[in-house]
Amino acid sequence: MSQNHADIIIIGGGIIGCAVAYNLAKRNVKPLLIDRASTVGTEASWAGAGILTSHASTHEPYPELCRASLALYPSLAEELRTETQIDIEFIQSGTLSVFFNAAEAAGLIGLADRRVKKGFSTEVLTAEQAWELEPTLSRSIVGAVLFPEDAQVRNPKMVTALAKGAAKLGAKFQLGNPVTGFLRENGRVTGVVVNGEALYADAFVIANGCWAGELTAQLDTPMEIGPAKGQIVLVEAMPLTFQHIVDGLGIYIVPRADGRILLGATVEFVGYDKSTTVDGTKQMIDAGVTIAPQLAHSTFVQTWAGLRPYTRKGPLLGYLPGYDNVILASGHFKNGILLAPITGQLIAELLTTGQPSMSLEPFQPVEV
Ligand SMILES: Cc1cc2nc3c(=O)[nH]c(=O)nc-3n(C[C@H](O)[C@H](O)[C@H](O)COP(=O)(O)OP(=O)(O)OC[C@H]3O[C@@H](n4cnc5c(N)ncnc54)[C@H](O)[C@@H]3O)c2cc1C
Repeated sequence: MSQNHADIIIIGGGIIGCAVAYNLAKRNVKPLLIDRASTVGTEASWAGAGILTSHASTHEPYPELCRASLALYPSLAEELRTETQIDIEFIQSGTLSVFFNAAEAAGLIGLADRRVKKGFSTEVLTAEQAWELEPTLSRSIVGAVLFPEDAQVRNPKMVTALAKGAAKLGAKFQLGNPVTGFLRENGRVTGVVVNGEALYADAFVIANGCWAGELTAQLDTPMEIGPAKGQIVLVEAMPLTFQHIVDGLGIYIVPRADGRILLGATVEFVGYDKSTTVDGTKQMIDAGVTIAPQLAHSTFVQTWAGLRPYTRKGPLLGYLPGYDNVILASGHFKNGILLAPITGQLIAELLTTGQPSMSLEPFQPVEV
């Protein structure tokens, strides 16, 4: 990279931008990543719960993308540990989805069937079997389904590790000021404006999460990407904790490696508002205590909220219409942590060889 020119500029240093930077650097391309915050991973990628699920609940090829990404996690965790000495706390804890009535059971057993057809294992458990696995579960549950391949990761550590790994391989970071505009020559993007200064590159990746809609609009190709707020509650483990991620009643409970328990998350379309509310917190605590009554005795630690990048069409991955050197990688909504490894890999392949190893056609950004 010369003084103000990079091969590739990545806008946004969340988990997606950092995964792209890491994958490019591994392929010997040294990108410049720009984030408006003073460190990477301060937004949704910090706020997320870190659940990695083997999703088969929606139409292909989206679940295929999820499965491909989940499959990359074990080796990526090892690679990042070796290269950066950061343990991203990838734990294959499995998910135990509890049900309280026949209607909930039918929905979960349908989901289990779909996952089995995709080669995952699932186990439908009686209440007694579920209590054996998780003794703190309510005596009112009727049963549960175990999804053993589901896993979790400590997402803030993952972002730090990706950025550190990328930096070690030559990626550069410019932090503390936003990209406010683009420079164009003959309709082609040649640079970005940061703090009133021009930074040039041959190609650009827009990976600034739920703010990507604003930047794509500046390029006259507005993409429908916006914020979906999620609130989370963190408590200290009660005397007995959980071994699995537990979900039910519209919430999930994640036992973290540090002994704390995370309850999440709301899904709210309220604009760029990151406040936490009594109502949101209550919703998770009420459901959590119904699932595991002893949670009522745990010590309350903290609440927070983050803004998921929401699109109606799933993640948007590929060249912006009308541009041959601007790629969009955003809109991962509830699964950006899960999808970061495959997104980083496919976008790096697209930039370096023009041939991603999985077709990005279904995720092509389409103008609204
Ligand atoms: C409560 C909650 C729970 C979640 N749980 C899970 C989960 O369990 N599993 C899972 O897979 N996913 C989960 N998610 C979703 C996941 O966190 C997101 O999909 C993912 O973090 C999106 O990453 P990103 O890099 O696209 O966006 P962000 O992490 O939001 O990063 C965008 C970055 O762009 C920067 N930026 C913005 N504008 C500019 C600009 N103009 N110039 C420069 N920089 C800019 C920001 O500072 C930020 O660092 C959850 C999200 C929330 C909020």
